Amino acid sequence: MTAKDRQEYKLNVGKIEEGFVIDHIHPGRGMELYYYLGLDKRDDCVAIIQNAYSKKMGKKDMIKVECPIQQLDLDIIAFLDHTATIDVIKDGEIISKPKLEFPKKIVNVIKCRNPRCITSTEHELSHVFHLTDPENGTYRCKYCETKWTPISG
Ligand SMILES: [Zn+2]
Repeated sequence: MTAKDRQEYKLNVGKIEEGFVIDHIHPGRGMELYYYLGLDKRDDCVAIIQNAYSKKMGKKDMIKVECPIQQLDLDIIAFLDHTATIDVIKDGEIISKPKLEFPKKIVNVIKCRNPRCITSTEHELSHVFHLTDPENGTYRCKYCETKWTPISG
C-alpha cells in the first residue's frame, strides 16, 4: 500500500448507519452538489471532502450524508455530475450502488440563462428543462429551447 493509497483508504472510512456516499464527484463540484441537493437546508450530518486523491480521476470530491435514504433526490446528482457514483447505506452496509441516469425532465433546479426567455419575466412559471440528448446529457428550456450545459466539465 502506497502513501497515496493509504490516504484514499482513510478518507473512505467513516461509519454511516443510513445514508449516502456520493463519490467520484468532479473536483470543485462538491459544494455545488451540496446546495443543489438542498443539504444546506437540512440538519443531516454531512461531510464534504474536497480534492481527495483518486486513482481514476487524479482528484475528486466526495459527500457523505447521514439521512433516511428515501429523502434524497438522486436524479439531481445524475443531472449535475453524471460520472459520480453513489453508495446507498443502510444499517451500516452498502445495500446498493444505483446507476445514475439522466432524468428526462428537470423542474426548478436550474434557471434558463436566456434573458429574453419568458421565465425571466413570468416569475410564477416553473423552470422546466427536457433531456434532448441522452448521450451527452444536454437539456433544453421548455419555453425557449436554450441549451443548458453544466458550469464546468
Ligand atoms: Zn428559456
